[in-house]
Amino acid sequence: MSESDFRNELHRICKGYSDRLTKEFDSRIENVCCTHSGHEEYEVLGGILSRQVTLALQFAHHPSMLNIHIGPIVLRSMVDSYITLSWIILDSEERCRKFRMYGIGQEKLFLEHIKSAQEDEDYTFDYSAVIDHLEQQIESQRRSELTEVDIGSWSGKSTRDMANEAKCMDVYRYAYFPFSAATHGMWNHIRRCNLIPCSNPLHGLHLIPKILPSPLITDFLYRAAKYARMSLDLIDNHYGLQMDSESAFKYLESELFEEEGQESDESAE
Ligand SMILES: [Zn+2]
Repeated sequence: MSESDFRNELHRICKGYSDRLTKEFDSRIENVCCTHSGHEEYEVLGGILSRQVTLALQFAHHPSMLNIHIGPIVLRSMVDSYITLSWIILDSEERCRKFRMYGIGQEKLFLEHIKSAQEDEDYTFDYSAVIDHLEQQIESQRRSELTEVDIGSWSGKSTRDMANEAKCMDVYRYAYFPFSAATHGMWNHIRRCNLIPCSNPLHGLHLIPKILPSPLITDFLYRAAKYARMSLDLIDNHYGLQMDSESAFKYLESELFEEEGQESDESAE
């Protein structure tokens, strides 16, 4: 297949995937909206699901992101949110509240930092518009409760412990852990993606920093689709939804991996 044929084919598959995924998301939110009255849970669980779907859609809309430099950073964020969602769902009322309050607390803390920067006479940038905006944001979310600024982890647990409790240690070990190297710019990522061996054998096998090409890795799209699908499954199970819309993940899987005429595999893993 020529380079341009490959791009056209990928574009077709991405379009088919994103149309189906958008429908899957919309139909769930419609169903949950009709059957569920708790605002906080609806906002938190639905919001996390929206993020998962949005990130998978970003890959589908911009396949140039499917490279070794950007792909793992996005995937690590998706895995992070998947573990969060899995853990919140185990005790959703209490944990949705905690999740939301922690976020508001973080915003409040940021507001305090900006306010003190504004009071510093050496600081010439005018932050008043940002301060107004943040104050309104915090006020509109506060409802009746007091917001305490909490530092540390929002859940009081490490991601590993959350994954363990939510019984998704495989996701932690085989996805969260390796993708973290890209997110934090650790040596094991940099060694592979930002350095090449020197070709002069007399130089003692040292490495040379290099801006390397970014070939497309369609496996990243597949993985993003898998995490979006796993997140949809969590929501379906939580609300007892029976959805009959076509699975975007199944569509993508068959387009990417199957020969013509071959049956689709039912496994999501
Ligand atoms: Zn050298």
